[in-house]
Amino acid sequence: MKVVVVGSGIAGVSAALAAREQGAEVSLVRGAPGATSLSFGAVDAAPWERARGNEPIDAFCTKLLATLGFRDAPNALLAAASGILRGARAHDEALLDLAQLPAGRVGVVPCDQFGWDAASLARSWNALPAAIARNLFFEALPGVFCKHTDEHAMSLAEVAARHDDGARLGWFADAVRASLARSAPCVAVITPPWLGAERARAAALSERVGLPCGEAMAPAASPSGRRFEAARDRSLAAAGVTTTAGWAESVRVAEAGATLSLEGGAQIACDAVVLAIGGVLGGGIVYAPAEAIFSDAMPPYPRHGFRASVSAGVVIGAEGRELAVPGSMFGLQAEAIAWPFARDPLLDRVGGLCRDSLAAERVYIAGDFIADRPRTWLAAMASGARAGKAAARG
Ligand SMILES: Cc1cc2nc3c(=O)[nH]c(=O)nc-3n(C[C@H](O)[C@H](O)[C@H](O)COP(=O)(O)OP(=O)(O)OC[C@H]3O[C@@H](n4cnc5c(N)ncnc54)[C@H](O)[C@@H]3O)c2cc1C
Repeated sequence: MKVVVVGSGIAGVSAALAAREQGAEVSLVRGAPGATSLSFGAVDAAPWERARGNEPIDAFCTKLLATLGFRDAPNALLAAASGILRGARAHDEALLDLAQLPAGRVGVVPCDQFGWDAASLARSWNALPAAIARNLFFEALPGVFCKHTDEHAMSLAEVAARHDDGARLGWFADAVRASLARSAPCVAVITPPWLGAERARAAALSERVGLPCGEAMAPAASPSGRRFEAARDRSLAAAGVTTTAGWAESVRVAEAGATLSLEGGAQIACDAVVLAIGGVLGGGIVYAPAEAIFSDAMPPYPRHGFRASVSAGVVIGAEGRELAVPGSMFGLQAEAIAWPFARDPLLDRVGGLCRDSLAAERVYIAGDFIADRPRTWLAAMASGARAGKAAARG
């Protein structure tokens, strides 16, 4: 059985490894960085404000989380550089899980980089019920933790890459230890998202400092996506999945099998295709209303507001139904389909319709590309595993 997976986010990786586990020959068309590469390291089953935080995870996904450098941590509590504390079901190993700490003071590493103000963050976290209930008190540590002046102008992910180097991590650990010696006793240390780009360095830093150390999440330039990409590439290579750089255009199905065509003309023959191409953000769903045909004239005909980036006979819909063609030649009213103007907006729901992953003959779908599924890591990973397994079994 030969399976081709399109998309290299968490759903595509999960599908490729699940199909390999079933004995299929698997190749993966990578596309470009999608939602997975932009996420910050929190893993949820449902949007986090509504998630329980202790949802069950099956054995395949538990193993995959560990392989990718994530910790299975029911009811984890993570700090974010937006000033909030929030629950999660699992997380990138580099992040500090506050739920594991005893009551006490948590030292916050200061730095002059954009998006990180240790004193303000400590004030904001201290005011939150989750910190008060656990008797956690955050306080900025004294000292200087950027080694070179150019680091003030770098992104968080670039400094994280510097801490891949053992000697540099040793310098950082010495600076943290010296700072702790000048402060009131701490139970843990929280850092900017700095702890490695190739893999998480939180455990190595904790060992050198002698206290639990870990990152807070940051919305811009987070290294968590870089760590995911590095772990993904190691896992696919170790499992014997062939990867191809490229952008898929169409799937053609004949009696003997399927052919995936890539931009530029290359073709891949296979028995089944898994489309793990993401939603609107990942590029799998394209916003293509009729007015996009001409920007300054009446469009020649009305058409669906969305289409898939790969033409494969997958029906695009939401709420279990195919999307209707809008009555207006100018398509959908943009405000009506997006948050914060709409609750449960179409933009977050639109995707391919499927039954048990199967969306068209020999075509299976996974992750954010599926209509009506929560746009979360765990939902994408679990649906990827199901699609990979189903495709390999034919
Ligand atoms: C900023 C941000 C923060 C988030 N925070 C959280 C969070 O805290 N917790 C949580 O659980 N989830 C979070 N999510 C959601 C979560 O990251 C996604 O639900 C999940 O990563 C989707 O994975 P995916 O593999 O389905 O899609 P993606 O990761 O988007 O991958 C899609 C892949 O398909 C490729 N592709 C698309 N079209 C083609 C084509 N035609 N040919 C080839 N390749 C193609 C893309 O290039 C990409 O590689 C966040 C997402 C974002 C963007």
